[in-house]
Amino acid sequence: MGLTNLAYRDFEVWVLDIPKTIQYQLYNFKNYTKSLVFGTTPKRWFARTWVPLKVLRIYSDGSMKGDRGAPVVLEFRSDVDFKRNIIRLRQVCKNEPRYVVELPMPKWVIERIKEGGDVKYAMIGLKNNELYLALVAEREVEPYQPSGYRLVVDVNSWRYGIAWGLIHNGQLVSFKQEKPNLNVLLTLYYQAVKRGRKHGALMRIGLHHTTQGKRLRRQAKARRGKIYRVTRDKAYFLASKLVRKALKYKALLVIDDMTEESRRELLEERLPPDVIKLLMSNLRRFVRQLETLAQWYGVPYEFKRLPSTICPVCEHKLTQLPGRIMVCENCGFKAPRDLVPMYWAIKIENTRSQTY
Ligand SMILES: [Zn+2]
Repeated sequence: MGLTNLAYRDFEVWVLDIPKTIQYQLYNFKNYTKSLVFGTTPKRWFARTWVPLKVLRIYSDGSMKGDRGAPVVLEFRSDVDFKRNIIRLRQVCKNEPRYVVELPMPKWVIERIKEGGDVKYAMIGLKNNELYLALVAEREVEPYQPSGYRLVVDVNSWRYGIAWGLIHNGQLVSFKQEKPNLNVLLTLYYQAVKRGRKHGALMRIGLHHTTQGKRLRRQAKARRGKIYRVTRDKAYFLASKLVRKALKYKALLVIDDMTEESRRELLEERLPPDVIKLLMSNLRRFVRQLETLAQWYGVPYEFKRLPSTICPVCEHKLTQLPGRIMVCENCGFKAPRDLVPMYWAIKIENTRSQTY
């Protein structure tokens, strides 16, 4: 389906090792776009189908890694043909012997290779209706031995932010809650809602195809897109910042993923579903990115549930006061809700060192 999609958009699609029958159909496809075989217009999700490709890497000393017949060749040579770091696509878009498309090597690849990574896979597909090659780098590293520092990351909704604490010798060395500017996000959200409503009103009287109607729709969409990008960029920025922090202290990264609990908390506050979605957007991506970066840089990490509603001193249930202050009616412990998991992390560390 992915190949059909490419062919439909006027790319000549040929992939090595593909069964002859499929090649035949693809080849003939363009002549029979209205035929029964591939006669329907590709749906949007076709564009999400990506074709995996084998990769051959040629290094500056002439050594090679990967499949010699691979359609994607990455050359990290600086003196041959006066060419530097290029990607060659062989016979993928056109099935002629020695047909080659040359692409400049993205900086991203050079950086990952310098870090000891290896591009083992490539995917070809469509991005914004253009042919796009995505490279996947892998790296195998032994995680370092933790120095005794622990970096605890508590993943909440954006409402209270992602809380992190650096713990050493039973002490909370530093603590911070990080979130995007919520006022900006909520302003964008309400602007999008308002424009959406106006557009809806025009639609009911059949005027949504007018210039004004189209503009409202475009503006609402642009604002929702902006919300998504702001939270996505924040998620990527924070994941990178926290992994660098862990590396600096040779800390064990402890991830407390309480996104589901946070979602419930927001539901209990009776916030509109749209706002909850906004406050939860890209948090999964944050956790995934944090884990990926930790693996890439060899940061030892573990997922651990750290309670925020149980007393870290006597394990009695905590009561929540206004302003998200948690108190223990049994022993008098009192702390802001987002600090409770940090006290739990310290408590666990102390119990561990007593056992050994
Ligand atoms: Zn207590």
